[in-house]
Amino acid sequence: MAKNPKAADNRRGRPPTRRSQPRRAKAAPVASSSVDIEDLAPSVTVAVAAAAPAALRAQLLRWYDAHRRDLPWRRASGGEEERAYAVWVSEVMLQQTRVPVVVGYYERWMARWPTVRSLAAATQEEVNEMWAGLGYYRRARFLLEGAKQIVEKGEFPRTASALREVRGIGDYTAGAIASIAFNEVVPVVDGNVVRVLSRLHAIADNPKESSTMKRFWELAGQLVDPLRPGDFNQAMMELGATLCSKTKPGCTGCPVSSHCQALALSLENSSVQVTDFPRVVPKAKPRSDFAAVCVVQIAQGLGEEVTDTKGNDDLFLLIKRPEEGLLAGLWEFPLVLVDEGKTDSLNRRKAMDKYLTRLLSIDMGRKSNVILREDVGQHVHIFSHIRLTMYVELMIINLKDGVDRLCKKEDDSTKLKFTNESSVESMGLTSGIRKVYNMVKAFKEKRLSVSERGQVPTRKRSRRSKQ
Ligand code: SF4
Repeated sequence: MAKNPKAADNRRGRPPTRRSQPRRAKAAPVASSSVDIEDLAPSVTVAVAAAAPAALRAQLLRWYDAHRRDLPWRRASGGEEERAYAVWVSEVMLQQTRVPVVVGYYERWMARWPTVRSLAAATQEEVNEMWAGLGYYRRARFLLEGAKQIVEKGEFPRTASALREVRGIGDYTAGAIASIAFNEVVPVVDGNVVRVLSRLHAIADNPKESSTMKRFWELAGQLVDPLRPGDFNQAMMELGATLCSKTKPGCTGCPVSSHCQALALSLENSSVQVTDFPRVVPKAKPRSDFAAVCVVQIAQGLGEEVTDTKGNDDLFLLIKRPEEGLLAGLWEFPLVLVDEGKTDSLNRRKAMDKYLTRLLSIDMGRKSNVILREDVGQHVHIFSHIRLTMYVELMIINLKDGVDRLCKKEDDSTKLKFTNESSVESMGLTSGIRKVYNMVKAFKEKRLSVSERGQVPTRKRSRRSKQ
């Protein structure tokens, strides 16, 4: 599930607490400014003398040695492979997620799977459970698949090019592992490094374009320290995550301010600010999707007459999502997409009944008694590119033939499961589905007036579905 969209660029640290650059008049954004930053850059480039790399490296590393944050993945002990594994796990977790959130996940993960070998022996279910709440579940899947690949091969790849062969490891992660764990002189470029480089070199080009990214990789490659590549890469990221932040750069305390062309420009021309770099590219508007979600609760051991009965043995129907695409392979309550114009209760229920009938050997009218079916509310979940409005309903049913005969085909049993309340409570549901479950729980407590927590709703007489 999507996390805070602001997380990416500032994910490795807190906002800076140091003094900001001198106050100046607010400039227009680069795109609409009367001053063309690219026109200004050459003269300033002369002034800052093409950023002498050796001096910049030394200043940055000195600052990093004195100011780096104490983070658990930086404390990883053991040999190079243990360190490589720690860097890998932390870097994958840090993609799209802020440091304070990652710390707890990282520590729990490493306590459970301290080595790549132990991770390779885990199941996808276990990994998903551990990952629940971090979002972007593809990352967890790739970690597991990558671990299996590495264990099969017999050793941890030691170079960036070999690391890129591992499933889920791209240029950035390969560079981070190779430089930090194996001391290979290769660069890394993430959102923080892009920000620092675009300011150091006053690059106003669109950072989303591949030609601009290529330039950043080249610049980072020229800059990386040949003796301490891992520390240097971490220092660049640390600078971007702390002092050289998106909106409040602390230029007066910056160790490389004498090399910063954006700062020099801003001091020369009051209509320019360092925060004009990198150029802000408006995000594409997420598309809007709508879904009917039905939490199907199957009351156990009840006949036609439903009386006060504890619901501890009740089962919830969960469906496994397809192995490809959004939230691949994760469990959710029955969910079916509906058109925007068909989100009314009648159309949603029609779509849901059709879906359940296709999925299960269940005729909602003849094989089950619907004890209760009510709308619970809406929950909007924001993915990176989708705004999903979920219309949630609760349906409590009593099956005449029990759950054993619900699967239509043998292999359906791997795509759906019936699980009791305590398992639902403890399993690794995505944050959106967890929210749906909590909504339903709150609804039952309020609406059904149960006399004890966890009770099945009571009706003197069950009712057959009219849907
Ligand atoms: S790199 Fe430039 S913009 Fe960033 S904090 Fe240093 S002086 Fe300021």
